[in-house]
Amino acid sequence: MVSYKELGLVNTKEMFAKAIKGGYAIPAFNFNNMEQLQAIIKAAAETKSPVILQVSKGARNYANQTLLRYMAQGAVEYAKELGWEKPQICLHLDHGDSFETCKSCVDFGFSSVMIDGSHLPYEENIALTKKVVEYAHAHDVTVEAELGVLAGVEDEVSAAESHYTKPEEVVDFATRTGCDSLAISIGTSHGAYKFTREQCTVDPQTGKLVPPPLAFNILDAIMEQLPGFPIVLHGSSSVPQEYVDIINQYGGKLPDAVGIPEEQLRKAAESAVCKINIDSDSRLAFTAAVRKVFAEKPGEFDPRKYCGPARDLMTELYKHKIINVLGSNGKAE
Ligand SMILES: [Zn+2]
Repeated sequence: MVSYKELGLVNTKEMFAKAIKGGYAIPAFNFNNMEQLQAIIKAAAETKSPVILQVSKGARNYANQTLLRYMAQGAVEYAKELGWEKPQICLHLDHGDSFETCKSCVDFGFSSVMIDGSHLPYEENIALTKKVVEYAHAHDVTVEAELGVLAGVEDEVSAAESHYTKPEEVVDFATRTGCDSLAISIGTSHGAYKFTREQCTVDPQTGKLVPPPLAFNILDAIMEQLPGFPIVLHGSSSVPQEYVDIINQYGGKLPDAVGIPEEQLRKAAESAVCKINIDSDSRLAFTAAVRKVFAEKPGEFDPRKYCGPARDLMTELYKHKIINVLGSNGKAE
């Protein structure tokens, strides 16, 4: 049993309270390897932005949970070395799927966990979330829960209203579970293919796909029900066209990849949305940089020579998100 406090990490309580008051959002970036972690910490340290490091099930399978936790601990020290005297770094379990997974993360030094019971019937979601909250709160670890199902390409129905979080449920859910933040569904979705061609309109000038707008009416209704309560958006990559173009130019094949426009996320960040999850965009940046090196220097075989440029491009991406989309720069001086 180790407390995150001994590792120099923080939970999300104060981060979120300040973010809601200040009209910005905290970046939640997923990490799977050293280059990604270096890029996240460098971007956060240089912009003095609080940051949430997210570990998904996929990341735990790929990189090993133990290793990732020690990397996060190392990240705190690295941040200090970069001149960030009081780093505000949260280590968060993304999409925890059971009480046992959440408990093991709490016991192991995570400062925040998500329990995702959104696929369960309502009452079961409440019971599971409540159980995690009771355990986590006993260790001063914050808990994110989810209500509503993220719409996306996977769904049979195209972004139907029925998938969205029901505003009439949020007070009951938050009160009975005691969760610290709530992930909602208002039209974001996971991955680089968030919408099908049929769900989009086509910009007559550029011929590019324009995704349907986020359901701000539902967000407004939720905020009215739960004033000042921290709201989380998953699946909020924007799928920058410049990265998609580089990937396709150098032999990749990503037709019709579409994300959430950044101006919509900026608008969300100014509201009670205080955590925005971004994963796919950094995957795209990494891939774009690596493909470019491979195409231009086919003789290159030193991983540092292609992972290095990938790290640089991800750092640039993270800084852009922090400064221009989330507005969290300078909030962790
Ligand atoms: Zn998610």
